[in-house]
Amino acid sequence: MKTLVIGLDGATLDLLGPWIEAGELPNLQRLMRQGAWGRLRTTMPPISASSWNSFVTGVNPGKHGVVDFVYPNADNYKVTLIDSRTRQTQALWTWLNEAGYRVGLLGIPTCYPTEPVDSFMISGFLAPGPDSEWAYPPELKQELRAELGEFLLAPNERYRSTRWLDRFLADLTASVENRTQAALYLMNHKPWDLFVVVYWDTDMVQHETWRFLDPTHPRYDPIQAAVYRDQILEFHRKVDADIGRLLAAVDSDTLVIVMSDHGFGPVHSFFLTNNWLASLGLLQFKRGPWTAFKRLLFRLGYTPLRMFRLTKALGMARLRTKVRFQQKAHLVNRIFLSFDDVDWTRTKAFSIGSFGQIYVNLAGVRPQGIVQPGTEYEELRERIIREALALRDPRTGEPLIERVYRREELYSGPYLSRTPDLIVQPRGWEYMAFGHADFGSNKLVESIVGLSGHHRPDGMLILSGPGVKAGVRLEKASILDLVPTILHSMGVAVPQELDGRVLTEAFEDGAAVQRSVLLSQANVYRERGSISDLSDEEMAQVQDKLRGWGYAG
Ligand SMILES: [Zn+2]
Repeated sequence: MKTLVIGLDGATLDLLGPWIEAGELPNLQRLMRQGAWGRLRTTMPPISASSWNSFVTGVNPGKHGVVDFVYPNADNYKVTLIDSRTRQTQALWTWLNEAGYRVGLLGIPTCYPTEPVDSFMISGFLAPGPDSEWAYPPELKQELRAELGEFLLAPNERYRSTRWLDRFLADLTASVENRTQAALYLMNHKPWDLFVVVYWDTDMVQHETWRFLDPTHPRYDPIQAAVYRDQILEFHRKVDADIGRLLAAVDSDTLVIVMSDHGFGPVHSFFLTNNWLASLGLLQFKRGPWTAFKRLLFRLGYTPLRMFRLTKALGMARLRTKVRFQQKAHLVNRIFLSFDDVDWTRTKAFSIGSFGQIYVNLAGVRPQGIVQPGTEYEELRERIIREALALRDPRTGEPLIERVYRREELYSGPYLSRTPDLIVQPRGWEYMAFGHADFGSNKLVESIVGLSGHHRPDGMLILSGPGVKAGVRLEKASILDLVPTILHSMGVAVPQELDGRVLTEAFEDGAAVQRSVLLSQANVYRERGSISDLSDEEMAQVQDKLRGWGYAG
């Protein structure tokens, strides 16, 4: 039996469900009628980098070691980017290759640099640029270009967050078409037993357009919504039609999985996590005159967010594509208050990432750590939790934080120490950290600019194919369950160290999948290879992409 996985980044039944019911997306509708489906719980917080790594490994971030696109550098606190080598555990393809099965992998995020597999791997989001070595085997790059004219690693973003939403959607649609053509070519010309194709565009469209789809969004404008709603639906019809083209290319003996790495919902405001930590005295600034001057400007309101609003208001948003974001970020750190101004020898906690990730400046772990492990560490965490739960949105007086997780409540495994010490979850997920700068604004909370949609913990899952029950609703599926389910359905032993389980409730009683699960004692942890690091230029290209989306700090 073959397996086809179609990954739709960020796809959610909250958006697609009503369209599917109304018959607007007939291929997804048919798959759901023929198969088992439901919400797919993802890793917390719901960040594509950690959730896709959990999808490919079947383990939680405490074992694979990827908690975000970015993490604090162990030597200097600088915001540092992950790549495929940050992942510490073996992936699905290793187990399948060992069992003699061939895999075709197209566009899974954070798979750059590629690794040797039987038979091919094409990088997805975070591959630096068209000239990088984004294909394994390398000659596949030329072959795809010759076949398709061009291969798009990612959609063109020239019209993102501009008033030309129609052109932005046209670029996303072209990207979907290009990905589908690549998938069909590879499916028909290369050997595979498992084929995975991921569409990143479904995530981008929701980040940009949620305010047109949701009448309760503070930036909802009924006139614009009337104009754009149909265009946004049309984009999703295209995605659905392309799912139909992929389904037509496989035989009826194929297990088909449609899944997403997280869900989506509205985001209304920025929450300035580092401002909050500074107000508690947990984050301290250097005492020199230059930092004092920057702090004065900061208090007066000269902040990156204000500059961002100003350039947007002046119609200069397209400057973004002309000026390298890294150059700008460097400039931003020089002119505005930033981590360059933090006195780490007096700082106890800081935040990196857009989901309320808080890191403790622990002695013996961080380069200038001052918090002692044990009682002091636990008391600090308790204090931050207490203060967080008491926080109010100054504009409304409503609670700002819904829940705070200690790292060990979410993660387990040998890489627990890489994970944030605390995760502060905003009420209703309607706040996110401002990711373009360490101290984006001088307020605690600001109305959002740019994005209007952001991630939620529930993605979606549809299973269809031989032995799958028709029309069954899956209630407790997790993204960790997909590796065990795929391995088991292909007759491969499931490593005991994996965190997920086989989704047996999706299959009929007499189905081959209902045989008992074979467990293996295989070591899931990778040996560190000697692959060279990304070049400075590659790193700069990746940073541009990430900062453009406000993911990186
Ligand atoms: Zn995602």
